[in-house]
Amino acid sequence: MRIGHGYDVHRLVPDRRLVLGGVEIPFERGLLGHSDADVLTHAVMDALLGAAALGDIGQHFPDHDPAYAGADSLVLLDQVTALLAERGWRVGNVDATVIAQRPKLASYIPQMRENLARRMGAELEQINVKATTEEGLGFTGGGEGIAAHAVVLLEKF
Ligand code: MG
Repeated sequence: MRIGHGYDVHRLVPDRRLVLGGVEIPFERGLLGHSDADVLTHAVMDALLGAAALGDIGQHFPDHDPAYAGADSLVLLDQVTALLAERGWRVGNVDATVIAQRPKLASYIPQMRENLARRMGAELEQINVKATTEEGLGFTGGGEGIAAHAVVLLEKF
């Protein structure tokens, strides 16, 4: 078994979509980034790559590469999952936390879990997603950005 941790932050700006765990969430601002800026999926991918000692998503999907402009991060997650499978790794479980003052995310979490589980070839009960605020403190509390943490356990098959 191997454990990995991922962390990511994206800035909230006007005129961008807000996509978390592959779910487009109606909000007056969205996350800025080269890809769809899905901060949750990015944290999960970094945790997966970290557990397998395969570096990070910046190495695999460089943000200066036009191939990844506006990329659907779930498609990148497919590629990470395939990379791990080639090396004999499958997901044991994932626990992720999205840190956002607004919007309220609870009603979107079931769909995020389903998206992430499907793309990683995992069952729903292996994938947990939580959301929290930071009580108005710091850059997430001030609404400047959204952060996500993820912890992953990989198993050899
Ligand atoms: Mg990112």
